Amino acid sequence: MSQGSSVHSTADHDGGPTRIDPLGDRPAWANDAPSQVDWAVGAPASAPVCPLCDGAGWLKEDVAFSHPNFGVLFPCQCKQAAWARQTAIELAQLSNLDAVRDKTFATINPFVPGLREVVPRIRSYARRPDGWLTLLGPYGVGKTHLAAAIANEALERGEHVLFAVVPDLLDHLRATFGPQSTVAYDERFEQVRTVPLLVLDDLGTESATPWAREKLYQLLNHRYNERLATVLTTNLKPEAIEPRIYSRLCDPACGSVITIVAADYRRRAAQDVPSQ
Ligand SMILES: [Zn+2]
Repeated sequence: MSQGSSVHSTADHDGGPTRIDPLGDRPAWANDAPSQVDWAVGAPASAPVCPLCDGAGWLKEDVAFSHPNFGVLFPCQCKQAAWARQTAIELAQLSNLDAVRDKTFATINPFVPGLREVVPRIRSYARRPDGWLTLLGPYGVGKTHLAAAIANEALERGEHVLFAVVPDLLDHLRATFGPQSTVAYDERFEQVRTVPLLVLDDLGTESATPWAREKLYQLLNHRYNERLATVLTTNLKPEAIEPRIYSRLCDPACGSVITIVAADYRRRAAQDVPSQ
């Protein structure tokens, strides 16, 4: 097949990547990479061995000794894809998204007063999450539904997203400190800090221990500095939100705050089913 042979020749031609000895040539830093499960993570059992690297997962460029890339190993496409799949699996395990998979834009009742006005803005954020979006409003106006809809839409597009209820996330991070933890705290915290889309539901319901407050601040401060897409929901009144966090979520250069004043969403959703 011509396509298959062209893939092979890309791997072999002068100046292109070459295969490596999988046992002898792995870079030392790769031992820290999430590679134990290797390139076939999440791939079908019948997936063929990668033709680019023969399953080694790594390639080096066929360049002269004087070239800066001489001897440098690069992860093969198959390895990068495996890491992405592994990350998606870990995020899914860490997410509370299973419980809210049915909460999408399609299942929002647009006839609920107050929601109709804000849904278009939230939808447009969901299509292309950029910066921060904070949903303020009392208990029961549909904030969690809207936040879950944003997360579900990103997941549908195959993007990496973490949807977490703030107290659950902090509990989880605290647990990774423990001796029984199978995952390193630093690794997990880094994953949450840098996930392309982080949706944090129920800010303000976490315990007010100094540890929890500081972790949350570190997390949000990093995402603010890096302008990483972040969605927050909270029942708190603005003056009750920690000032360091409030000043960031209100910064117009980074994001926007939407206040939802709908009548009780869950009650209305049950009663007000529109005739069509
Ligand atoms: Zn490969």
